[in-house]
Amino acid sequence: MSEKLLTDVQRRWNEISANIAAAAAASERNMEEVTLMAVTKTVPPEKVNEAIAAGCRLLGENRVQELLEKYEQYDKRAKIHFIGKLQTNKVKYIADKVDMIESVDSIRLAQEIDKRCALIGKTMDILLEVNIADEANKSGFGYDDIPNAVEEIRRFEHLKLRGFMTIGRFGAEIEETRGYFKKMHALLVDIRSKKIDNKDISILSMGMSGDYMIAVQEGATVVRVGRGLFGERKSVL
Ligand SMILES: *Cc1c(COP(=O)(O)O)cnc(C)c1O
Repeated sequence: MSEKLLTDVQRRWNEISANIAAAAAASERNMEEVTLMAVTKTVPPEKVNEAIAAGCRLLGENRVQELLEKYEQYDKRAKIHFIGKLQTNKVKYIADKVDMIESVDSIRLAQEIDKRCALIGKTMDILLEVNIADEANKSGFGYDDIPNAVEEIRRFEHLKLRGFMTIGRFGAEIEETRGYFKKMHALLVDIRSKKIDNKDISILSMGMSGDYMIAVQEGATVVRVGRGLFGERKSVL
């Protein structure tokens, strides 16, 4: 297909995919280990579907209300991960619609997801969100609290812990960010080495438009890209 027949979204999808392949190759990783997620906040469903037509198979949703409004119009070939702040009283609206909740930031939220999933007969894949830069205003588990949290999550029959997610620190220099990503990778390796039944804990969701290539170099298995794929957002959510 000639370049000019592609939409902007499709062209950017191809560019970002090529960047991921290059970053993976440079760090001797297999690009198959890395999934490019399209973060859809404020983006109309038609545009999201352009990304899916280009090959995207994973969407990242931040807001419950926005997901509910757009859900029916999404091309169903893509899976959906919830990545935003999730209030316990909203879990019931999305439990049947998402394939993973990446932003589990408290045991209380985990408990509520478990409860809803028990009601609908589903086991939910989850990631624990890690407040890696230890910021007072950011949600997520503290780095040092993760080993305990992993043990606590085990008692929920309708949850399956698959790994960790982090957002990093806004405004951080690239080398500071690289340090956070390295720490996240070390955490994953450490937790996996602790117990044989931790082998399913294998996902590291980190890296956004500004730093996804660094994240790939440091071991990310999911990178979450919004603006780089869909263009700048008009409003910040
Ligand atoms: C918005 C958002 C992203 C994507 O950020 P961009 O800078 O648009 O790539 C990734 N992760 C989370 C949790 C987000 O809210």
